[in-house]
Amino acid sequence: MEYVIQPQVMPSVPVRLEADEEISTHSAQFPIHRIYCVGRNYSEHVKEMGGDPKQEPPIFFTKPATACVVLNEDVTYPQATNDLHHEVELVVALSSGGKNLAVESALDCVYGYAVGIDFTRRDLQAVAKEKGRPWDAAKGFDQSAPISAIVAREVLGKLTDAQICLRVNGEIRQNANINQMIWSVPEIISELSKFFELKAGDLIYTGTPSGVAAVVAGDRLSASIEGIEVLEFAIV
Ligand code: MN
Repeated sequence: MEYVIQPQVMPSVPVRLEADEEISTHSAQFPIHRIYCVGRNYSEHVKEMGGDPKQEPPIFFTKPATACVVLNEDVTYPQATNDLHHEVELVVALSSGGKNLAVESALDCVYGYAVGIDFTRRDLQAVAKEKGRPWDAAKGFDQSAPISAIVAREVLGKLTDAQICLRVNGEIRQNANINQMIWSVPEIISELSKFFELKAGDLIYTGTPSGVAAVVAGDRLSASIEGIEVLEFAIV
């Protein structure tokens, strides 16, 4: 049997470099190295999932870089689930990294910010949690990480106080402020760098506020964070 190995093309995310740049004119691309995700980072969401925000530190998991969906492309309802949940999240894009980074200097690694969805096959996650199994099948599937264009930090400026919102078919499902995160962006980067050597191209999905719920084929999702482009797509 013969097969041809194609040269590897890294998945990438469009970047907004100018304050008034339209999405259709993005010329720069951010090549994705890895996707890290934070679990349990807003106390109201920890409570809705049955946890105690004070006792449980955030947990980390990963998705393949190929899970990203860019340019508001449709997402196909995935196989092997009857309970696909949306989790709207602030996404941090790194331009550098390292090990054991100090909280004080962690923001130096940040290239920019985006809004993304951490799609979760909640039924598979419930079984995994119950049986103490890994979350890969619940979290790391194809098209599980839609993402907006990345806004460079020099364009956006400081991002510590901004409304994060998810609408499904126009109705608000999740609505919070990123200042409610239990662990801040620099703290997340510092903690994560204790386990992994962070690198340029790494994306970090920083956890979701309360209001997670199921979506079905035909739904239209609209995710926003103040100052960042709206992410809008359909489930098909
Ligand atoms: Mn999440």
